[in-house]
Amino acid sequence: MTATLVSVVVPCYDEEPVLTPTHAALARALSVIEGAAFEIVYVNDGSRDRTLEVLRELQRADARVRVVSLSRNFGHQLAVSAGIEHAAGACVVVIDADLQDPPEVIPEMFALWREGYHVVYGVRAEREGETAFKTWTARLFYRLINRLSHVEMPLDAGDFRLMDRRVVEVLLSMPERDRYLRGMVSWIGFRQIAVVYRRAARRAGRSKYPLAKMVRFAADGLLSFSLTPLRLAIWTGFAAILIAFAGILWAVLLRLFTNDWVKGWASLFTAVSFLGGVQLVTLGIIGEYIGRIYAEVKRRPLYVVAERLGFDSRRDARDAARAEATDAARLEIGSPDEKAVEGATAGEATVGADAMR
Ligand code: UDP
Ligand code: MG
Repeated sequence: MTATLVSVVVPCYDEEPVLTPTHAALARALSVIEGAAFEIVYVNDGSRDRTLEVLRELQRADARVRVVSLSRNFGHQLAVSAGIEHAAGACVVVIDADLQDPPEVIPEMFALWREGYHVVYGVRAEREGETAFKTWTARLFYRLINRLSHVEMPLDAGDFRLMDRRVVEVLLSMPERDRYLRGMVSWIGFRQIAVVYRRAARRAGRSKYPLAKMVRFAADGLLSFSLTPLRLAIWTGFAAILIAFAGILWAVLLRLFTNDWVKGWASLFTAVSFLGGVQLVTLGIIGEYIGRIYAEVKRRPLYVVAERLGFDSRRDARDAARAEATDAARLEIGSPDEKAVEGATAGEATVGADAMR
């Protein structure tokens, strides 16, 4: 019997200074696991530094290294999606390139997978080397999205996780453009379990998530997993109506029982400008959703691959893993989407989204 293949997906954007130590750490951590073979799929997400050259060297030195190089910077979530799409393993681990997620946790994840869990996600007990601002806004965000969304999402879990092939196949069949992967994996379900770890400080280089990107990422998460922002408009409307009724009642009472009823410019002005503001915000929220619908409707590929390294002989491995996963899915969940599965195995895809239709 052949050893189980484990894929590790590593998105890299301008990670030149960390890649060599990262690869060494990954290789060391993975060598602890018995009865498994590995591949490490590095995704170069349009880096502007020498990341691709370093990856080429790693690939020359180690046959377990695969490199997918995207045609430009597509962003973290899409880089991860590209890596997952190219992974052949019976289970797939996603880990950051900067060693903030400790590779030593992977054997623990693997053991839980062997026990029968389909998703093992890392939960950050502590974050080192990050500003109090980032830690707190992140904590707040995970609590907020959990309240606003019907999908139960683990608190303080990032994208560091192990997924069974079956979960991976479902993930690949989900076609959305705004990929909030941690939410999507929660949505998929199956048996999921947490492992707690300490998030270390970045080994070298700078964070590629400045505030603006973090806000956009949070908005993606909220808007693709919740309709609450849209409903906010309804509740604000009701509140405004209630206040208006109180105002009318007050005006009538003044008119009936006092001589003091001509004033009121200030209250009129306040009410009009407040409602104007509420209407603009509401339009903005609706606009956000419509913009997303527009992006979905265009059905562009999720990402474009410029170059692949180290992949030649392994279509068979991926197809076998997929076939096995589909068989298992057929047995256990009844009617899988045949189309999605066929799409997933058909032809060498130059454009990644082929399988995600
Ligand atoms: N990353 C990427 N594309 C991007 C931004 C980030 O592939 O556009 C990768 C990055 O190389 C790293 C991971 O995503 O491996 C997480 O990014 P980073 O460490 O900068 O985020 P932080 O940990 O600061 O939130
Ligand atoms: Mg990081």
